[in-house]
Amino acid sequence: MLNLHHVTKTYINGDETLHALNDVNLSFRPGDVAFLLGASGSGKSTLLNVLSGLDTPSEGTISIDGVDTERFSKKDWAIYRNHYVGFVFQEYNLIEHLSALENVALPLLFQGVDRKSSLERARIELERIGLANHIDKKPLFLSGGQQQRVAIARAFVTNPKVIMADEPTGALDSELGDKVIEYLIENAKDKVVIVVTHDEDLAQRYANRIITISDGKIITDDREQTPDTPDKDKLSLTEPRMRLSLLFKFARNNLASRMFRNLMTAAIVSVGFISILLLTFIIGGITGSISENIAKIIPPDEYQIHHVEDTAIDIGTYTAILGRPEVDDLQYNINETYPVQARGNTMMFSFLSLPFDTLAFERDGTFYGRMPENDDEVVISLRTALEIRQMQMIDEDSYGYLFDLVTETQFDLIHLGQPHTTLKIVGMHADGAFSQARVYMPYDALYDIVSDLDPDGDYRMSLVTTLNISSDNDIQAFTQDLYDTENVVMRNVFAEVTGQVESVMDNALRWFIGVALITLVVSGILIGLVIYTSVLERIREIGILTALGARSHNIRLIFILESGLNGLMSGIIAMVASIFIASFLNRLFNSFIEAPLNLITGGNLNFTLLSVSLLPIFFVLVFGVIYAMIAGALPAHYASKLNAVHALRKE
Ligand code: ADP
Ligand code: MG
Repeated sequence: MLNLHHVTKTYINGDETLHALNDVNLSFRPGDVAFLLGASGSGKSTLLNVLSGLDTPSEGTISIDGVDTERFSKKDWAIYRNHYVGFVFQEYNLIEHLSALENVALPLLFQGVDRKSSLERARIELERIGLANHIDKKPLFLSGGQQQRVAIARAFVTNPKVIMADEPTGALDSELGDKVIEYLIENAKDKVVIVVTHDEDLAQRYANRIITISDGKIITDDREQTPDTPDKDKLSLTEPRMRLSLLFKFARNNLASRMFRNLMTAAIVSVGFISILLLTFIIGGITGSISENIAKIIPPDEYQIHHVEDTAIDIGTYTAILGRPEVDDLQYNINETYPVQARGNTMMFSFLSLPFDTLAFERDGTFYGRMPENDDEVVISLRTALEIRQMQMIDEDSYGYLFDLVTETQFDLIHLGQPHTTLKIVGMHADGAFSQARVYMPYDALYDIVSDLDPDGDYRMSLVTTLNISSDNDIQAFTQDLYDTENVVMRNVFAEVTGQVESVMDNALRWFIGVALITLVVSGILIGLVIYTSVLERIREIGILTALGARSHNIRLIFILESGLNGLMSGIIAMVASIFIASFLNRLFNSFIEAPLNLITGGNLNFTLLSVSLLPIFFVLVFGVIYAMIAGALPAHYASKLNAVHALRKE
């Protein structure tokens, strides 16, 4: 069944060549209980290692069930060990963070057997070996003899064809040792059993075949043999599918066993994420708040129309544009600044033709009084009222009081030092902290005044309109059409201003993210180091898993998953921390800056410094996991390439 043909294993140590195995020819058949005797260093473990594919011979061939293993890949060997070989080691080699039951179930789980049946079969195996009361204990809480019995149960659970035991009694007293060997032989009737020992007495009592080895050479082989039976079934190496949940459990246990260290790392890594999130929030908050506050000064739905050559728009063009179905309302826009005299003081006010949309007065602030009905009646802004009364900005509660003070007040528009027109206040638009000194008059009345003051001037420089259409495409098409047919340009000032703010903020965001990415590079190195440390701490475990038939990509995946969990932790920390910090800073800003500012200026500023949004949080969570997995890939790869023989050698 197992054949070694001229097998040699050579180690080169400097100038010295050492033959751990020297031209070994052996064959093992079912029913063999072969004891391999030899002094320490004679090559016994090496022989087992090449027989299980944990090590490769330097020369010679090994065949299993008539199949030459020369072409075996690492994967084939892993599957072979998993299905055909049961290992028992001197130092038990149980996985510390798994219970006895899970340890025994492991080779079955590696085969892809579902968890329930794996655990059931493991339980039966443990009961048979007399450990029914200890199945849920971790190895640390079991005695040496109990641990070795768990290891034997693990070796038998897959019903393998070969049992390989490397000094299985070495760490036990002789009575316990005898029991272990007896159990082994009792339960391996039709298997190949190879027991490595240097205990000659033990061999004499239990072996049906004793092989002695010295300096890598077979010295004696008393073939008290079973008849040479031909191999019944061919070796079949069907690829198992190891469940992700199993690897995940290893990753999670790895993580949990060093929770403090991992939390610290995650916290450091999260700093980069937190800064990205906070910057995104702050830029979102400022951009949003600026738009909102700009909307208080510039009506978002107002479009200005200019002649392409910046000349006056004639009445023909005006009529043509007014005739368009898209146009809701169309007004000439006059905006001139004149000195005025009110209550004995001289000051400068802007005179504007009344917005066609008088509702704007209500929408963007509070309106007091009424709209003008005669040519000498005007509406003033909050700032104008304050200047007339020579007052500082006042609290919102006092706007009504202020209007009571200024309503019906008359003032003179001054031309060349002389009063030109007397105007009377009938309404006030309390437009908040950003208020400018404005006087609103009906278009015709204002046109009469300005054309009287400057008969040659043209005040029909621009038109203001709102539109019936709202989709960006329609507006764009209409703008283009007006340009083509009327030679006018239509602009939305609000969109232009907020667009500029947004593009400045976007640029800032890009820069800041660039900076944050640098901190992430450092974090990546950190994750890599932590996973590397984890690999170093688990070298023995990696060796055990390999001996039990785990494949290298399974091992790689364990550490990549561990990295991913690390990343997830930092993402979650970043999420919680940034939401907390954002709400804290917002509250700080609102109570220490915004509220006092509004109180002093009487404004109605409404600023959200940081606006928490889900998209960047989601991005950070996903990115955190992927990023950590990439960072952990290198140490994980290193783990998967570890030499199992070295890993299993006693520390
Ligand atoms: P045994 O199990 O009989 O005590 P081993 O099979 O472990 O002996 O080792 C056989 C010989 O090969 C020893 O001399 C050991 O020092 C040597 N050896 C084993 N592994 C290596 C290695 N990786 N590099 C160099 N020498 C090794
Ligand atoms: Mg050994």
